[in-house]
Amino acid sequence: MPSLDPLTAVPPPAERRLALRVTPAAQRALRQGHPWLFDQAITAQSGEGRPGDLAVIFDAHRRFLAIGLYDPTSPLRVRVLHHGAPTAIDRSWLSGKLAGAIAWRSTLPENGTTGYRLVHGENDGLPGLVIDRYASTLVAKIYSLAWIPRLGELRAALDDVFPAACLVLRLSRDLLRRPEYLYGLEDGTVLAGPPPEGPVSFLENGLRFEADVLRGQKTGFFLDQRDNRARVERLSAGQEVLNVFAYSGGFSLYAARGGAPEVVSLDSSAPALAAAERNFALNLDLPAVAAAHHTSLAADAFLALADLRRGGRTFDLLIVDPPAFAKRQGEVSAALNAYERLTALALGVLRPGGTLVMASCSSRVPAAAFFDAVNAAAQRAGRPLRESERTGHPIDHPVLFPEGAYLKCLFARAP
Ligand code: SAH
Repeated sequence: MPSLDPLTAVPPPAERRLALRVTPAAQRALRQGHPWLFDQAITAQSGEGRPGDLAVIFDAHRRFLAIGLYDPTSPLRVRVLHHGAPTAIDRSWLSGKLAGAIAWRSTLPENGTTGYRLVHGENDGLPGLVIDRYASTLVAKIYSLAWIPRLGELRAALDDVFPAACLVLRLSRDLLRRPEYLYGLEDGTVLAGPPPEGPVSFLENGLRFEADVLRGQKTGFFLDQRDNRARVERLSAGQEVLNVFAYSGGFSLYAARGGAPEVVSLDSSAPALAAAERNFALNLDLPAVAAAHHTSLAADAFLALADLRRGGRTFDLLIVDPPAFAKRQGEVSAALNAYERLTALALGVLRPGGTLVMASCSSRVPAAAFFDAVNAAAQRAGRPLRESERTGHPIDHPVLFPEGAYLKCLFARAP
């Protein structure tokens, strides 16, 4: 029996376009190419809209400023698709945008990488939409209900430029609270092709990994850390390594391939650590990985680091890559506090002369504030850091506007 298309119940995008007037400050931001318009910046609106309607934004002289996707359920009311001059937003426009984003990443597969980000939301001109590639599986994750009525068009446009064996839909948590706009779609609905029978395997810099694209965190893997993992590999020969917040063992595998004889993966999630074990098993044909002794530690990182210290356990290289501590502006100072505590705890188990790799993926925490917090905590611990590198985004996670910069990572040695 042919399976029913999961998009059958989703209404097509509305023909009508909303017309919006906005504050002078918002006009300036839009003229400079900013992709967001918040509800408070709207001064007049032609009618009520539904998620996914196209909204045309005009300036004080009724001139076209931008066109974007309207979402009445979010304070981020319009995500801009196009600035400057009127244009049709349709399948061929979408295909063009997708083709541009794909071309930007064309060097990655040549270097043994088949798992990477194809579309990075606003930073690729497709706000609220992320598309990750895992070999022949594509995972589209949407962060706005406005994409729901356009999923059919998106699927067709993807088929034009990057036909995949399988297309999986992932929904951000906020969207799951509004089932009335989901038309039966769920987090993990397969939009095209046969459903994956288990985790999907792919390559990253020649290492084999599996991703649970249906249920895993993000779209199944933290693709943004690829370059930092490669840096860790180059630092790992002969080092005893502790990978804190290890998830499925990305950094751990690179450390092992780089010649670390001992690698410990620490995470509070037992399923993530089981995935790390499987990822090690997938790479046993590599002599360095086979030679490395890998262990998993399922525990809270803060408690486990204190326990390890009490037990006198030490390491040469520590990677600390926690989840986003600040999702809102009000959480920034608590996040900086947590980074300081983690730095002190990490130094508690780092041997003299050892290497500390500290990452932050909180977009609300500015890079300078993060680096300052880590350095200040190290100073207080009496171990001022000697920095070797501060890194940002890899090529497949470009940054097109200030809010798009979220990833920062410090490589340093501690006396
Ligand atoms: N470094 C990983 C990504 C880390 S994502 C990579 O390269 O793939 C953050 C991880 O922290 C998740 O796996 C989550 O399970 C874990 N985590 C969240 N809170 C934690 C805590 N308090 N203690 C330990 N792990 C935690």
